[in-house]
Amino acid sequence: MAILHKEIEDILTQIPTKIESVAIITGAGISQESGIPTFRGADGLWKQYKPEELATPYAFRKDPKLVWEWYEMRRQIIKKANPNPAHYTLVEMEEFFENFLLVTQNVDGLHEKAGSKNIIEIHGNIWRARCTNCNHKEFLNTPLQEIPPRCINCNSLMRPDVLWFGENYDVETLSIVQEFFQKVDLLFVIGSSGQVSVPVYLAKEAHLNGAIVIEINPDFSSYSHFADFILRYKAAESLPVLWKYLKEYLQKN
Ligand code: NAD
Ligand code: ZN
Repeated sequence: MAILHKEIEDILTQIPTKIESVAIITGAGISQESGIPTFRGADGLWKQYKPEELATPYAFRKDPKLVWEWYEMRRQIIKKANPNPAHYTLVEMEEFFENFLLVTQNVDGLHEKAGSKNIIEIHGNIWRARCTNCNHKEFLNTPLQEIPPRCINCNSLMRPDVLWFGENYDVETLSIVQEFFQKVDLLFVIGSSGQVSVPVYLAKEAHLNGAIVIEINPDFSSYSHFADFILRYKAAESLPVLWKYLKEYLQKN
């Protein structure tokens, strides 16, 4: 831990004293210490399936019950999970900076549960379901009454309102993120492998526009290629320390 403090002090000698706009990208890694498995971690498999085989429109067409059963298993885990110190630190950061945007790839809703306000869930939310026919959206608790659930309006199949592999992002949402990222001073990328390419692209664009990129991830990721600073630590143990130092640094200067 002494090394972590030293690494943070080192970073602070290299960043401006005036930071006006801050953005965050989070991935499954920030919720790992809340007990929610990441996709690519050792516990990412369910039965014999990989997430990439279940979180697809094709898998849902083929076997909606199987896909919903997988989501129900994940929803049960997420229901019991609570935000960890990394989630709460982001709430403090949002209160501190005038311009702050939290872009999450997570669907677990833990940022909202922690108290973050300005959140964009670019991959949706696991608690929301959407009708495959009439687009009706509804929050569904777990356990579900029936699997797969059906629409209360038109009785068609409901699907999780999340972005699956091979699906397109909402264009309007992406342009809100891009606009913010164009003028962001500091971008933190926390707990994302970068195997999903759009968030990596967004971060790279911010970097090209002058943002300082700080990555927090115990392992190498696709963001590591262009991050200005990297903390190879778990989010819940390192982000609160980083924020303590950064806040002091900004208040002092
Ligand atoms: P990923 O599973 O591909 O990668 C997780 C990353 O987190 C890895 O790089 C890993 O090294 C890192 N990591 C593991 N433990 C960490 C910790 N304690 N602190 C910091 N980093 C840690 O996840 P991804 O990049 O978010 O992309 C996969 C997709 O999976 C996303 O679209 C997301 O919607 C979905 N997903 C979401 C959840 C969730 O909502 N909690 C969970 C699993 C997957
Ligand atoms: Zn419907």
